[in-house]
Amino acid sequence: MNIKVADTAGFCFGVSRAVDIVEKLLDENIKVCTLGAIIHNPQKVKELELRGVRIVDSPEQVHEDETLVIRSHGVPSSVTDKIKELGISCKDATCPFVLKIHKIVSEHSRKGETILIAGDEDHPEVKGIIGHCFSQHYAFSNSEELEEMLYKLPEVRNSDLCVAVQTTFNRSEWKKSLKILQKLCTNAKIFDTICSATTDRQSEAEVLASTSDLMLVIGGRHSSNTNKLYNICKSKCERTFLIESAEEIPFSELRQNDQVGITAGASTPASIIKEVLVTMTEEIKNIQESEAEPNFEALLEESFKNYNTDGRVTGVVVGVTPTEVRVDVGRKQTGIIPLSELSSDPNAKAEELVNVGDEINLIIMKTNDQEGTILLSKRLYDAQKGWDDIIKAEEEKSIVKGVVTEIVKGGVIALTNGVKVFIPASLATATRGESLEGLLKKEVSFRIIETTRQRKRAVGSIRSVLNDERKQKAEEFWADAEVGKKYTGTVKSLTSYGAFVDIGGIDGMVHISELSWSRIKHPSEVVNVGDTIEVYIKALDKEKGKISLGYKKDEDNPWEILKNKYPVGTDCEVEIVGLTQFGAFARIIPGIDGLIHVSQISNDRVEKPQDVLSVGQKVNVRITAIDFDKKRISLSMKALLNDTPAKETAAEETEEAASEE
Ligand code: SF4
Repeated sequence: MNIKVADTAGFCFGVSRAVDIVEKLLDENIKVCTLGAIIHNPQKVKELELRGVRIVDSPEQVHEDETLVIRSHGVPSSVTDKIKELGISCKDATCPFVLKIHKIVSEHSRKGETILIAGDEDHPEVKGIIGHCFSQHYAFSNSEELEEMLYKLPEVRNSDLCVAVQTTFNRSEWKKSLKILQKLCTNAKIFDTICSATTDRQSEAEVLASTSDLMLVIGGRHSSNTNKLYNICKSKCERTFLIESAEEIPFSELRQNDQVGITAGASTPASIIKEVLVTMTEEIKNIQESEAEPNFEALLEESFKNYNTDGRVTGVVVGVTPTEVRVDVGRKQTGIIPLSELSSDPNAKAEELVNVGDEINLIIMKTNDQEGTILLSKRLYDAQKGWDDIIKAEEEKSIVKGVVTEIVKGGVIALTNGVKVFIPASLATATRGESLEGLLKKEVSFRIIETTRQRKRAVGSIRSVLNDERKQKAEEFWADAEVGKKYTGTVKSLTSYGAFVDIGGIDGMVHISELSWSRIKHPSEVVNVGDTIEVYIKALDKEKGKISLGYKKDEDNPWEILKNKYPVGTDCEVEIVGLTQFGAFARIIPGIDGLIHVSQISNDRVEKPQDVLSVGQKVNVRITAIDFDKKRISLSMKALLNDTPAKETAAEETEEAASEE
């Protein structure tokens, strides 16, 4: 099996620019909202939502402290006018190629020309273009619609026409439309505004699909350009699939020696393309390795050929030793099951599997009349029956239990009812990259995702069961989740903007500003991956499945601590943390600094605080004033020297500070 990824797969210039604009604002701690989803990719949109990005439908919904980002599709001029009128802070990420179309239709419509737009009039880009037309305008989504319109509306056909094209319009459909326009509207001014990124992507996808046995198109199901890519590929390759992420790869459709092609829509992040590629590569490796391994079921078939079997019998256990089990099968010969024929599990012990008096089903492997013995196999009987159960479990998608007996290259082998099931590493744990060692000798639940009848090969997925369990837990969680509710969670991952915490089947994010009352540069200053922490729900959106968590506690709020433990008049030791012309900043407790005004350092005149104090120095001060609203604290060293009552010192200092400032 071979995989080829299209060179043009993934983010185009315009989308990449729009996402960069949003991420840059977030990095600067600016609150961002976007007019509609910034891109048609649910995973990327979710990631941005977790960073606090809000999606709004109109400028009126923008909050005062937010910056609005206009996405690459652009907007009608009435929207930009509204944004200006409301004085909204705004970044325009409209793709320059789309802006060019706005300019064309605006200029030509102001001259009174009729505007024709090749494109889907429900698509935001076309809505935006229409919003820059100031004269009669019409949209058509294919050549047939255009032809019909021109015949039905001769006034359009005979008017001064200007034609522009949606940037992602299908190139071959445009060629057909162009022929009609050139035939019926000889004077039309035609602007081919299809974006070259789109043309190149579509052409490459078409060629790739023509030479592929199976084609994967990665992208959002609501993305117009991804759907167009899918249709182009589907017309050339019957086995074309549109997937949003690696989890949707149609493994059961993969065949040995398939030539697989991969392309992706303009709004598909590189990380998702990479994950699909890595997962596919792993799967191919697994298939190749399992092909190379001796096939247990083939050996089973072989063993039937080697032995002169005499059918199936039921026997009663009459004796158990570490090396064999003796069975009464109702014949004159003694029935013997060697340990190797008792179970497929190489670690099995006879005394743990059967007891005297047990009735068990067996296959007769060999009868030796001279010795008066019959060689029996429970392992073969179980394997045959087990295989029937496996086929049934695959059909019914039911959950199968088994014990992991081996860790092999590329995955683990689980034994269920005497059948060995290969579980690829990518499907053996809840998340990629987890160690497989912990599974050895453990009972696991899995689904059978693939069986090959001819080769009697079974592939299972533990992850499928874990995902279901996770979904179930998520449903239970949402049923009684409410703001303020507390949870004990585990830190799953850290990013520069917060910590993701698993609170029992659901991941929520604690934003960096919610981790500590002090300013921190990275969440790792407070928590680490694997930490168990107490969190509470700060906000939740059940419809979108979005949840924000809080971590820092009110009782740790340094301003509360100050209020309770350091009232005005308190004398304490502080550390100098900064020096300015008008005074020294000193840390009272972590997160709270106060100002020792230059006039409050000494009884003698001090020119500059630097002359007598240095950063890191510890000094004794009196807290002379606290303004909780403005978060300002005045400190005095002089008050201790004079032992002046706090109120007088504060008044004096405030006066002096005011004149300095
Ligand atoms: S497809 Fe072309 S026009 Fe559309 S956003 Fe991307 S670069 Fe811009």
